[in-house]
Amino acid sequence: MKKTGLILGLFAILAVSVISSTDIPRGYAVQPSPMGSPEIRALWMVPRLIFDADPEKGKIQIREYVQKMANAHFNTLLVEMPSDYIAALTDERYQKAIPITKWDALGELINFAHEVGLQVHLWYSFTDYKSPRSPEFNPLHNGNPKWAAVQIKERMEPNKERPKRMSVLCPLNPDARRWELGLLEQVIKRYPLLSGIHIEEPGYSGHGECVCDLCLKLFQEIYGTAGLPETNSPQAEDLKCLGTTDFIRNLRIKIKALNPGMLLSVNGGYSWQMDRPLGRNWKQWAELKWLDFYTPQIYTTDAYKFRSNAQDTVYALGNDCPVIPGIAVKWGPKERNVNSVETVLREIDLARQAGARGVVIYKDEFLTNEYLSALKSGPFKDKVPFPKFGK
Ligand SMILES: [Zn+2]
Repeated sequence: MKKTGLILGLFAILAVSVISSTDIPRGYAVQPSPMGSPEIRALWMVPRLIFDADPEKGKIQIREYVQKMANAHFNTLLVEMPSDYIAALTDERYQKAIPITKWDALGELINFAHEVGLQVHLWYSFTDYKSPRSPEFNPLHNGNPKWAAVQIKERMEPNKERPKRMSVLCPLNPDARRWELGLLEQVIKRYPLLSGIHIEEPGYSGHGECVCDLCLKLFQEIYGTAGLPETNSPQAEDLKCLGTTDFIRNLRIKIKALNPGMLLSVNGGYSWQMDRPLGRNWKQWAELKWLDFYTPQIYTTDAYKFRSNAQDTVYALGNDCPVIPGIAVKWGPKERNVNSVETVLREIDLARQAGARGVVIYKDEFLTNEYLSALKSGPFKDKVPFPKFGK
C-alpha cells in the first residue's frame, strides 16, 4: 500500500509539474459542460438555518429556494441533518433547538425537490459535530455517553474540572455504530424519495483522538503492546479505520436492502494519505466499489493548487469511483477565505479538465444572486441531468 502510494505520488508530482508549466489564463470565458453531458451540480445546504419555524411560511420558502436552485441549473441538494433532527420528531426537548422538525421541513424539501427534478442526498456526519446533548449520548434515546471519543489532552488531565467535549463519537464501539445505522435506517424508510446518503468526513476530528477505554484496550490486545492510539503510527492508523470501514460497509448493505437505487457517497480531504490517520479510509472503500462518488473539499483561492489537488484525487481513485470536488464560495473563520465569482467559475472549469464528474458548491448561505446568475450564464448554462453512474 505504502509503495503503491509512493509510486502514485511520484506520478502525480510529475503530472502536476508538467501541467503547472502552462498558465491558467485570467478572465477567460468558462465553457458550459462539454456537449451538455450529465454531471453532478450539487449544493451543500443547511435547512435548519434557512427555513422558518412557522410551517406556512417555511413551506413557501422551500418552494422558492428549490425553484431558485433549479433555475440556476443545479441538479442536486446535499441537505444537512444532525441526529438531533430525528430525535426531535418524537421528543419536544429537541424540537426547541430545531423548530422546523415540527412540520418536518426535510420531508417537504425532499418531496418538492423531487417534483422539480432535483435530487436530494442526506448530508450526515455519524462521528463528528456532536454535543453532550446529542441523542447518541442520551440514554433516553438509547444512547450512551461512553461512546464519546476522548482526546489525549482529556486523558492526560483526568482530574481537571473541565467539561468533556463530547463532540465526536468513537466509531470503534459496535453499539455506537449500530445506533447510527439504526438512525439512518429510519431516515431511509421515512423518506423514500431521498436519492442518496452523503457522509460528512467519516472519522475522528483530529490527530489527538481517540484514547477512550475501548481504543486503549483494543490497541493493547491487537498489537500486543501498550501504544497510543491517538498517534499517527501505522498501527494507530489501521485501528482508526476499523470502525469507520465497518460502518460504511454496513451502511451500503442497508441501503441496498432498503432502497437499492439510493446512492452512497462521502466527503473529506483531497489526499487519502492525509485522511487515513483520521479513519477516513475512502480510498479503500472506493477500491471495494462501495462508493458511488467521492467529494474532496478543495477550498482554496489558488487556482493552481485547486487543479493540482483535484488531479491528485482523480489519479488516486482512477476508475474506482467518480470524483466530485467541493468548491467553496467562503470557508473557515478567516475573512480572506472567499472566492470571487470569477475564481468559482474557473475552479469549475478546472475540475472538469481534471476529469471530475461534477462539483459541489460550499455552501448555500454564501451563494448570492451574483454567483447564481454567473453560474447560469457560464458553466451551468446547459441544464444537464444527474449522471447514471452508481445505479
Ligand atoms: Zn475510542
